[in-house]
Order: sequence, then structure tokens, then C-alpha cells
Amino acid sequence: MSDLQQNIQQANTYLQRFKDNTTGHYINGEWTLGTSGKTFANISPADQQPLGEIAEGGEVEVNRACEAAQDAFVEWRDMAGAERKNILNRLADKLVERADEIALVESTDCGQAIRFMKQAAVRGAANFRFFADKAVEAKDGQALYQSEHTNLTVRSPIGPVGVITPWNTPFMLSTWKIAPALAAGCTIVHKPAEFSPLSAAILAEVSAEAGLPAGVWNMVNGFGEVVGKRLSEHPAIKAVAFVGETSTGSRIMEQGAATLKRIHLELGGKNPVIVFDDANFERALDAVVFMIYSLNGQRCTSSSRLLLQSGIRERFLEALKKRVENLTVGHPLDPNTEVGPLVHTEHFDKVLSYMETARSEGAIIAVGGQRCEELGVGNYVQPTLFTEANNQMKVAREEIFGPVLTEIEFDTEEKAIQIANDTDYGLAAYAWTSDQARSMRLAHKIETGMLWINSENNRNLPSPFGGVKSSGIGRDGGDYSFEFYMETKNVCFAHGTHRVPKLGA
Ligand code: NAD
Repeated sequence: MSDLQQNIQQANTYLQRFKDNTTGHYINGEWTLGTSGKTFANISPADQQPLGEIAEGGEVEVNRACEAAQDAFVEWRDMAGAERKNILNRLADKLVERADEIALVESTDCGQAIRFMKQAAVRGAANFRFFADKAVEAKDGQALYQSEHTNLTVRSPIGPVGVITPWNTPFMLSTWKIAPALAAGCTIVHKPAEFSPLSAAILAEVSAEAGLPAGVWNMVNGFGEVVGKRLSEHPAIKAVAFVGETSTGSRIMEQGAATLKRIHLELGGKNPVIVFDDANFERALDAVVFMIYSLNGQRCTSSSRLLLQSGIRERFLEALKKRVENLTVGHPLDPNTEVGPLVHTEHFDKVLSYMETARSEGAIIAVGGQRCEELGVGNYVQPTLFTEANNQMKVAREEIFGPVLTEIEFDTEEKAIQIANDTDYGLAAYAWTSDQARSMRLAHKIETGMLWINSENNRNLPSPFGGVKSSGIGRDGGDYSFEFYMETKNVCFAHGTHRVPKLGA
């Protein structure tokens, strides 16, 4: 039996329960199918076969989940940080125990190649462990002295929070949000994406196995316009952590306005990778290929605009074309697969529509440009490279969110910076150069939340993660996360020496 067949067989043993039973909501420590009786189908991106039915939540379920999160809040908030730390570490252990299941289910559900999902549980567990350690110090504040008063700042969790996640790498993104929220002492209501909901159900199960008190972790499945909307409007929810499209982010701000929600938005990107003439050729080539074709290009930090300096361009493009042509597209559970199927036919059609856009705008389709007919009915798109584009074209301005790279030539550093910044987005940028002074100039001039010099995306949990402009508001990571999930109170102590103003004496 091939590795692929073995993986499919093993995945099927994990997936059978989802096929046999409707996946429900997890509210106040209990699984429920909700009140409406409505469900929606979850479809495999590899072959369009059903992966089971998902309960379609409505306002009733969101209200119940938010009330449960509110009822559980005080106990969770007041629990000693060390105890929260133990529970979150236990949760991390449970994730690792189910690593094989999580990888195979996630890969099947969202179409991401198993080579990238194998470590998902271990990395998710690392997120929980990192914030578990920080739970102990979450409430720490500052002492700020004046001559006759001393101010102490006290941090406390903001309250129940809504966590709304997208379909691209749902497991990992959910753990990034939920781990700091719980460590801070917040309770959560999670609304997973409707295209890839299965790992959210596993996460909720693991939360119960780890011994989280009922109501601390709630999860409601359903559609954004109903479940997501109600969650971002509900008065018990004090903050919403959202990852998804820019247009949805602005809708969430509107929906949360009446209740003055604190909002954290991690949105789209059209991230440039700038390769200068003096770049390390091989390392830059590896990173350029990796940062757009891994994870099917369905990655917010993917470098989807390639800015090539004139001196290196021809040689770089020649090598790049060979690499793109050589990418292995295939079943997500095949260990050899580098590019899997896109998550859903709707998204697949959107990505394919950009092939025609590129043609009509006058870009050259140097590689790819079509669906992979030979792979059958799955959502397989050929890894695609557009060359000779300019930054005004739609293929250089809009987030395609697929294995599609748009190349643009530049001559000077100033021009590269101008093109890199000429976009509505501002999530990430990458630059390849051996000139240290230039790197410093870029660090100050590139308008993004994150810039990697001579590296692909490298995540460091204490470092801030997030975007500017249409790519978002707020930062994740380390103490930045606690700034979002916690309130700071100032308590001022008089030394008893100052003159209190006397009125009406
Ligand atoms: P999306 O905005 O369509 O959906 C995201 C989530 O929002 C889903 O759970 C959806 O049901 C929900 N939603 C939809 N309408 C809503 C509403 N009115 N109120 C509340 N919730 C609502 O995004 P997507 O297509 O699932 O994900 C892809 C997008 O996510 C891309 O733009 C990508 O760049 C972005 N993304 C960003 C980051 C980041 O860190 N910046 C990371 C991953 C993905």
C-alpha cells in the first residue's frame, strides 16, 4: 500500500464519525445540534465527496453560547494563573496525543498538503504552552510614582470574547487566538469558518478533555452573516478577535459599534517580495517559491507580488519558471504533494477567474494558468506565474489567495519601495539583499506590519504579528496579545501628605 493509500485509510477512520453524525455546537460544556434542525454540507476539496453535515447555528445558539461564556467568566478570571497554566499545558498535551488525527483531518478538510499539516498539532500545542507560561504573569502591572501619590496598574481580562476564524489554516489560526485569550482569563465563543469546520470540533473536544470548566470554551458553527454577525453584536461579548477578509473585518467593526466592542482584525494582504541584484540567489529563489506555493497560496502572509531588480531578473525568472513547472500538485494526503486542492469550488472559481484577468490586462502567463484536468474533479489549480505585470493591474492589486505569483520589474531601490507601498494592504513584506544599510532603510520605509529581511515567514511567538492599512488593526504575540484581551486599570494611592482641595468650608 502506498503512503497516500495508507494516509487515506487512516484519515477515513478519523473522518467516519463526522460522516455518520452531524457535527454540532459546543455550548456550556455540552454538544448540541441546536434548535433549528438545519445543517449544511461539508465537502472534500480533493474529490467533492461529502465529509459530513454541520449543524447550522442561529441566533439562539449564539445567545446561549455568549451567556455560557459570561456565566463562566468570573470563575475563570479569578482562578490562579498557575492553575490556568496547568490546564492549558494539559490541553497542549492532549493536542499532541491527537497529532496524527488533527493533521489528517485538517489536511482533508481544507486541502492543505499533509507535509505542511504534519506539525500542526505540535505547533498548536506550542502556542498553548507559550501562553500557559505567561498566564502566571498576565495580571502584572506597573508602579508609577509621583511625589505624593503612587499609581499601580492592574490588568484584568476584558471578559468573554468572540473568536471568528477563516478556512485557510483554521486549526493553527484558532490556537493563536484562543490560547492568549484563555491565558489572559477570558472565556471564548469560537465561530469557525463554514468551509473547514472539523478541526474546531476537535479543539472543543480537547478543551473538555483538558478539564476546562464548562462555558469557558464555546463553539458555534454556522454562517458568517448569522452566527458571526450575532456574535459580534452580542452585548456579553467584550471583544472580537477576527481573522479573514478585509471587507468582513469592516463589517464586523460596524456590527460591533453599537456595543463598543474592542476589535482585533487580521485581514488580507498583497505582500511584496523584493529581490535585489545583490541577493543570495539560491536562498531567495527557495523562499520566493515557498512563500507563494506552500499552503496552496492560501496564506495571508504569502508573497504574491514578486518585485525583481533588472540586473537579476532574467536569470531569476528562468530558474523560477523551472521550479514552478516542477511543483508537485496532488492529493493533500500524498506526502509528495507540494500544492493541494483549493478549499472550495467557490474559491477555486475565483482564483481561476484571475487567469483571464491576467490575459486581458496584458500580463504573460509564463507558467500554469489552468485547472489541473488530469487530477479529476478536485479543486486543483496549476501553480501559476504571471510575468511582465505592472503594479496597476488587478493581478498585482487584488488578493488572489491561490498558488499564483505576479512578477513586476524594477530598477532602483526607491522604485522598489514605491511599488511595494503602492497597495491598499500592509501585512507583510520580504526583501532579499546583501546590503545591510539598504535593509535598514527598508525597515523604516516599507509600510507593513511585518518585514522579513533575507528570510521567508518565520514566526516568533513573542514578536508582534499583524498588519497596517487594509490588512488589519492590532497585534498578536507575546504581551501584545494580552494588551488586546485585557483591560488596564490605574489605582492611585495617596501618601497622605497632599493638600485635598476644600470647598464650602
Ligand atoms: P471571510 O472574511 O470570508 O470569513 C472569515 C470568517 O468570518 C468566517 O468564519 C466567516 O463565516 C465569518 N464571517 C463572514 N461574514 C461575517 C459577518 N458579517 N460577521 C461576522 N463574521 C463573518 O474570510 P475567509 O475567506 O474565510 O478567509 C480568507 C481571508 O482571510 C483572506 O483574505 C486572508 O488573507 C485572510 N487571512 C488573514 C490572516 C492574517 O493573519 N492577517 C490569516 C489568515 C487569513
